[in-house]
Amino acid sequence: MFFSPCTSPLEPFEYPPWADYGVRVFVKRDDRLHPQISGNKGRKLKYNLAAAKAAGCTRLLSFGGAWSNHLHALAFAAKAEGFTSVGWVRADEGQPLTPTLQDCQAWGMQLHFLSRADYRRRDEPAFLAELAARCGGGYWLPEGGSNALAVRGIAEGVAEVCLDYDVFACAVGSGATLAGIAAGLGEQQRAIGIAVLKQGDYLRERISALLAEAQYPPRDNWQLRTEFHGGGYAKCSPSLRHFCEDVAQKTGLPLEPVYTGKLFYAVGELLRSGEISAGTRLVLLHTGGLQGLRGFL
Ligand SMILES: *Cc1c(COP(=O)(O)O)cnc(C)c1O
Repeated sequence: MFFSPCTSPLEPFEYPPWADYGVRVFVKRDDRLHPQISGNKGRKLKYNLAAAKAAGCTRLLSFGGAWSNHLHALAFAAKAEGFTSVGWVRADEGQPLTPTLQDCQAWGMQLHFLSRADYRRRDEPAFLAELAARCGGGYWLPEGGSNALAVRGIAEGVAEVCLDYDVFACAVGSGATLAGIAAGLGEQQRAIGIAVLKQGDYLRERISALLAEAQYPPRDNWQLRTEFHGGGYAKCSPSLRHFCEDVAQKTGLPLEPVYTGKLFYAVGELLRSGEISAGTRLVLLHTGGLQGLRGFL
């Protein structure tokens, strides 16, 4: 497989402003899973690529925005594993390609552009059939790669962590990563997900549905927090920007403001309010996404 051996490092996180909270914090560095296919998007692809291969598909099709970590990972993984790939991008045709899309194209991904209205149809079977017909057919991955096979890949990453801990926390976009963590935790452990989008409440149902689709029993060991979106997806306040810079300067850990920055910032707030209490042992998932930082320079 393209990122075997499929493990990422676990590192202590010693951030001086958190020193008095009496907690132990580790970071699961999925950003270092692979030099290009970083983070949770790599883990979500693993069983999907295996399924595509098993089905005899040679072309992978998916959706994403102009800074999509998913399309970026997919383009590289497809090339490495001998597939062709097609990305349907929510963007206006004729705009200059972002560095993310330039990478995708350089790795052989064929790009097509969809209006916002068409992009909203990305889960309609008839629309998928129409798009597939336009590029010769293939194996569809949903936006973000978020399906039942993705949940399995994430759960596998959780099982790599062999020290004792109480809470496993991650940033939440579609919810597949939080579902995989909930599936992979041991009896006494719980998961906290930090929604990065405004109005993330609908995600709770989605997460339960993903667990069921991946054939895990229902679990109540997870919690989704929807109050830390900071204005919405990809919105970066001065305080969030400052926090990311401060963490990088004091610990050397690179964060980006769309996902991982919001996660660490929110955990800081939960520590400050005492909701995460002294004595708690935490693992924070670094889901990668650092390629997207190029959009903030
Ligand atoms: C996609 C992504 C997430 C969110 O994962 P979901 O499974 O969609 O909830 C978190 N962090 C990064 C860096 C991502 O690219």
